[in-house]
Amino acid sequence: MSSIFSKIISKEIPADILHEDDLCLAFRDINPQAPTHFLVIPKKEIVSMADLVDEDQAAVGRCLLIASRVAFEQGLENGYRLIANTGEDGGQEVPHLHFHVLGGRNLTWPPG
Ligand code: 5GP
Repeated sequence: MSSIFSKIISKEIPADILHEDDLCLAFRDINPQAPTHFLVIPKKEIVSMADLVDEDQAAVGRCLLIASRVAFEQGLENGYRLIANTGEDGGQEVPHLHFHVLGGRNLTWPPG
């Protein structure tokens, strides 16, 4: 299922890109919920965590590595939160797997 994130990958719509490689893309969230809020997505059109198959291991692993690396580059040395909203109950709005990285403030727990 194509989504707005496919258009960001293809550069049809602009985004503030923080990292790009063959497997994944990291860019700032358009509606930040913390002083630093970026998304890391696989370039492959995977709908959600619930749709992963064995062949996605490298792409998802790469996304997590890049999340860690970009968090460091963005100065989140005091910590951050990594979230993958999944499906309806998970509050997922964009049907393309994405990892949120939020930091720069104290994040409460549990989330809403
Ligand atoms: P979800 O609720 O699916 O986990 O999160 C989707 C996220 O994508 C939201 O935080 C939303 O602000 C972000 N988002 C939606 N459309 C765009 C867009 O066109 N550009 C960027 N940079 N972020 C977007």
